[in-house]
Amino acid sequence: MTRRTYYIETYGCQMNEHDSEKMAAMLDKLGMSAASAPDTAEVLIINTCSIREKAEHKVYSALGKFKSLKTRKPDTAIIVAGCVAQQEKNKLLKKVPHLDAVLGTHHISELPRILDKIRAKKSRITSTDFVEDVQSLHMVAPLKGANPVCSFVTIMQGCSNFCTYCVVPFTRGPEQSRHMDEILEEVTRLAGTGIREITLLGQNVNAYGKDLARGYAFADLLRHLDGIPGLARIRFTTSHPRDFDDSIIAAMTNLETVCEHIHLPLQSGSDSVLSAMHRGYSFAEYLAKVDSLRDSIPHVAITTDMIVGFPGETEADFMKTLEALERIRFDQIFSFKYSARPSTAAQSMPDHIPESVKIERLSRVHELQDQITEQYHRSAEGSVEEILAEGIRPQSSQVFGRTRTNKIVNLEDPDLICPGELVRVRITEGLKHSLRAVRAV
Ligand code: SF4
Repeated sequence: MTRRTYYIETYGCQMNEHDSEKMAAMLDKLGMSAASAPDTAEVLIINTCSIREKAEHKVYSALGKFKSLKTRKPDTAIIVAGCVAQQEKNKLLKKVPHLDAVLGTHHISELPRILDKIRAKKSRITSTDFVEDVQSLHMVAPLKGANPVCSFVTIMQGCSNFCTYCVVPFTRGPEQSRHMDEILEEVTRLAGTGIREITLLGQNVNAYGKDLARGYAFADLLRHLDGIPGLARIRFTTSHPRDFDDSIIAAMTNLETVCEHIHLPLQSGSDSVLSAMHRGYSFAEYLAKVDSLRDSIPHVAITTDMIVGFPGETEADFMKTLEALERIRFDQIFSFKYSARPSTAAQSMPDHIPESVKIERLSRVHELQDQITEQYHRSAEGSVEEILAEGIRPQSSQVFGRTRTNKIVNLEDPDLICPGELVRVRITEGLKHSLRAVRAV
């Protein structure tokens, strides 16, 4: 008997990738298997992201592609999940007659029930209310994701910061932490299946525990996770600079499994822009935390997010962003043009920046940062690093992995290295986006 198949198209962040893994795990449990293309699937899920402009258009255009498929195979179940589902709710069903269900960010665990309803042709479904207690959302964590060596573990859901440009508090609800016992149990289980590295996920992991009555904090969680048998590395993302404190620096310094890398979004080098963004710190405060972290861990890698062209950003404000890049010298940055998002405060601010100016500023940021990143990579040549081998590239048969500082390394002599192995390598060449290495003798 052939197994029923599903296809999940995922847009956006690691949180979404992990939600897709959870949905795949639920469908596998129902005896289904993953299809290699949408045309051959009986269940089609688009897991959406609404962080950038045109997100909704992207979803409507993807749904447009699936219309002829539904005409040919009317029993195909088509579902939109994730942040655009949360944002658009019933509107999606109204606009797209061939769509069967809209599944909000707090409802992915309902997927099997929703599929039953679609099959019974009871009704088209929207499930998008925020739930008060997020603990149940994580009961569906997969035993193993797509990567046999590294896994995501959600520790928090939502965000209560309301940065004025950001749609996340509206699409993922208020900040809610998972109970520590459940996280420890999940990580122990993952480590037992061979997972060597976990990345703790949340919109603001540094605030972990603040909403729980038990009174434990993120550094406590890191301490409890360190030393779980089999687990070699712990990473976490995303950190908020306001909540990044000495206790986390101490945990990063002292705990063997916690990697020497932090993603700490700065967003702008200008205090007036940071204030308009409602970020809750000045550039000087951010810099003081970076300096303190580098005092404790001199080789730490720091990456960041930057937004250019926020409403009201002057050329002088923008120059401060470039100065911040020169001063801090991030290992890597993710930079974006500001885009207006529904429900956010910045959308109705005055002095929106023309698109041409945003494009020009973004290219200046790229030009400067590309040089800095390449300099870091070149300066690594000749050094010895530990990498965790994560897999083998199908095209080149090269083993690839990452350093503790999260740099991608491709090994030139992969013989006898298995995914999951910690390997000491010598960096032979620093490239723009990655490093080449050989096994160190
Ligand atoms: S901290 Fe700000 S940018 Fe990050 S998810 Fe929350 S509201 Fe959005």
